Amino acid sequence: MIKFGPSGNDKLYYEQGNKTTLGAGKWVSELGLNAYEYSFGRGIKLSEEKAKVLGEEFAKYGVSVSVHAPYFINFANPDDEMAEKSYNYVINSCKIVKALGGNRVVVHTATNGKLEREDALQLCKKRLKVLEQKLIEQNLNDCLICLETMGKYSQIGIYEEIIDLCLVGNIYIPTFDFGHINCTMQGGLKTTADFEKILNYAIDNLGFEKIKNVHIHFSKIEYTSKGEVKHLTLEDSVYGPEFQPLARAIKNLKLEPVIICESSEIMAQDAVKLKKIYDDLVD
Ligand SMILES: [Zn+2]
Repeated sequence: MIKFGPSGNDKLYYEQGNKTTLGAGKWVSELGLNAYEYSFGRGIKLSEEKAKVLGEEFAKYGVSVSVHAPYFINFANPDDEMAEKSYNYVINSCKIVKALGGNRVVVHTATNGKLEREDALQLCKKRLKVLEQKLIEQNLNDCLICLETMGKYSQIGIYEEIIDLCLVGNIYIPTFDFGHINCTMQGGLKTTADFEKILNYAIDNLGFEKIKNVHIHFSKIEYTSKGEVKHLTLEDSVYGPEFQPLARAIKNLKLEPVIICESSEIMAQDAVKLKKIYDDLVD
C-alpha cells in the first residue's frame, strides 16, 4: 500500500495546542495520512524509552514511522575517527526507529569535501560496507538505510550516485527526494516520462523488489545554479516540481512507496494534497 505523511509536525498541529509529538499519530491519521518521519537532523534527542511510548501511539493509529538520521553524517570524510561518528549516528538512529516500531532510516551520505568526486564515492562505498557489517553484528540489519538524493552539487547524492551506492548491500534503498533532484537538474523534472526515467533506471539497476516500496521525499524547492536554496510549499508555481506527473509515474510502474512531504511549515496539510492528487488519478 502506498503511504503518505509529513516530515515532522505541521504548524497547524501546534496552533491547535499540541506541545509534543505524542499526539502526532492520532492527528495525522485523522487527516487520512498513514506515515510520519521523525527528524534527528540536529541530533538524536529521543530516548529509547520515550520512543517506545511514542511508537505505541503511532501503531495504534496505523501510522508507519521512519526517522531522518543526523545531518552531521559524512562517509566521505577521510578521517577514520569522524567515520566512526557517522557509523554511530546511523546505528543509534536504527535503535530508536526500532523502538518507534519502524525500520526506515533516511541518511545524507556525504559531502564531497576536498576529495575528487570519484574518490569520495569509493570511500563511501567502503564505509557503507563496514556499516552494513556493524548493523549485522548488532542485529539491526532488519533496518533499511535509505540513502537520499541531495539538492546541492557539493553533496554526494545525484540519483545515479545513490543508486550505485545502494548496490553495496541489501540494507540500502534510495530515498528519492524529487525536490532535490529537480534542483540538481535545474528544473528538469516536468513530465511523467522525466520521473519514469529515474524510477526505471533504479528498477533496472537495483531490481523491482528494492524499488517497489522505495522511500520518497517530496516538496517544491527553490534553487540557484549551485542547487537547493530552500523548501517551499505546494503553492509555489515557479520552481516545482509538480506532483501530478510523479503520481502518474508511480501508478504506471505499480510502485507502492512511502511518500514523505517536506513542505515548509505545512507538511501535513500538503501531504493531504499529495494523497488527493494520487487518489484522483484516473486509470
Ligand atoms: Zn534529508
